[in-house]
Amino acid sequence: MSFGRTELGPEAETQELMTAFGTFIETKYGGDLEALSTCEEEIFSFEVEWSDLCADPIIQGYLGDSLDHFMTIAETVLNDRFLHFMQRPCRLVLRLNGLTEDHKRKLDSLRMRDRRKLFTFDTLVVGRTPPLGYLQRASYACAAKGCDYIGQINQRLARQRESPGHCPKCAERYLAGLEPEEREMAKRFLPRPSYRMVDEELRYIDVQYLSVMDVNPDSEGPWSLGEHVWTAVVDEDFVDAYPVGSLVRLHASVQVDHLPERTFDKDTRRVMVLRVEGIEMLDEPATHFDEVTWTSEPAWR
Ligand SMILES: [Zn+2]
Repeated sequence: MSFGRTELGPEAETQELMTAFGTFIETKYGGDLEALSTCEEEIFSFEVEWSDLCADPIIQGYLGDSLDHFMTIAETVLNDRFLHFMQRPCRLVLRLNGLTEDHKRKLDSLRMRDRRKLFTFDTLVVGRTPPLGYLQRASYACAAKGCDYIGQINQRLARQRESPGHCPKCAERYLAGLEPEEREMAKRFLPRPSYRMVDEELRYIDVQYLSVMDVNPDSEGPWSLGEHVWTAVVDEDFVDAYPVGSLVRLHASVQVDHLPERTFDKDTRRVMVLRVEGIEMLDEPATHFDEVTWTSEPAWR
């Protein structure tokens, strides 16, 4: 008998995390939810302390390589629990705060083996795109006659839009009455599915790409800059909140993405993109770059 962590299936694991995070939010942050009941913002960044998450015996097991999964599930639970308090429409965006010194990392030292990991970076915002929309969830209705199946697919940032596979309702009709062996065979020859997108059920969120560089405290000026320009993606209420010149500490996980300018589908080159899960101000923004004593020549000038 093993005393290690019990292996759970994906659904049981999700359920375990949902229950644990629900209890966590109500015990540790119930007061915050209550205080936000009359929040006038439509979208509000809800910060949880990293040390609180790590102190929970169940939650801490979900903070490793599957951080993306954790953030998605936890944010859903957060908003579900908030419904009991909410008096005017407001959506909470889960943010991480107070990561430790152990998470500190230089952008310029990032490599592919760091993907999916969470770090803290001290950065200067040197550029940004206009706000962009990102299709977060799409709904597809089966186009077969008399079928009412609607499938929802969560989309990933900067990927080709994914559509559902075979319609389960149509497949069931097609396979009905077949013997088990015949079913297995027939499953391989299901008619090609056809879907239409349900426009009313598309869910978009706002995103923005920031160009950021390492900043290091410097004896001769306030800060000196790193070598390369890196890309970070912010969403929701972080969009347009950090102008060029902002000195910010980013809590972000490392994601791998296609080259933005790729011209053919099978291009195997990848870039690292930071997915921002929390932001703290480092210093007064450098609104006039001339007032800042740069000790290295900034590449963006
Ligand atoms: Zn169907």
